Amino acid sequence: MKEDSIATDKVVQSVLAKIGVLNAKELKAWEHPRNDIRRLSARDYAASLRSQLTFAQITELVDKATDVWPQFNHKVLGPPSRQFFARAADALHLNVKAARYTSLALYGFYVDGSRTAMAKPLIFVNSAHHALAIGTAFCHEVGHHFRAGSGRGKSNEVRFYFDAAYNDHLDDPGELAADVIVALGGYPQTAANRIFTRKRRRQIARAGGIDRSVIGRIRSHLETSYGFDFSRTLSPDQNLQYLAGMIHYAKLRAALLEEYDI
Ligand SMILES: [Zn+2]
Repeated sequence: MKEDSIATDKVVQSVLAKIGVLNAKELKAWEHPRNDIRRLSARDYAASLRSQLTFAQITELVDKATDVWPQFNHKVLGPPSRQFFARAADALHLNVKAARYTSLALYGFYVDGSRTAMAKPLIFVNSAHHALAIGTAFCHEVGHHFRAGSGRGKSNEVRFYFDAAYNDHLDDPGELAADVIVALGGYPQTAANRIFTRKRRRQIARAGGIDRSVIGRIRSHLETSYGFDFSRTLSPDQNLQYLAGMIHYAKLRAALLEEYDI
């Protein structure tokens, strides 16, 4: 166990040391969150979902998540705590490392593990974020782990999660599958039905923005469930990044209801 934790730390360090060089594009994109939000609002999530993932692939993901969390899509997942991570790591047979990383552009990453000294795959989450974002990163990486387990993931590759990359996630089945776990974990079906009413759902899922009343319901859901709201203690850009994440997962959740009734 101790050996594996040393191996884990080594992998984390080597990945973090390379991050600035490897992902200069993503770090650069993070400087312009406004562009990201505009583009996200205009994207057709229903069409992306249909083209990237079949109903069978989504139900497979839901089944795997339900094996780990029996209340998945029935109750809100988390909020993340040491105990929540420890239990999930055990059930999923992986190493979880939560540590502060200076750049908030990074949420986390997943390392398959087969070409490292670690006995198990690794999920790293940047704990400098708000608990909601930490939980988001964790669930996203668990989504990669599910795909890797079913032979669909690309092995021997570090999958980074940068929040400037939401637009790209819509064109990549692996990233979108990982985000489906987040959307269902954070917005269980009953809550999703209440927030994304039948009348508004289609417009949100398709190429439409999210109106004030829906944003209000989303914010109150996230505040009650995760103690999250936009804060003066965060920089304006950081708040905009969280807003981009909020829009991304809300549109994805609405699309899951609209297209697949999940
Ligand atoms: Zn990812």
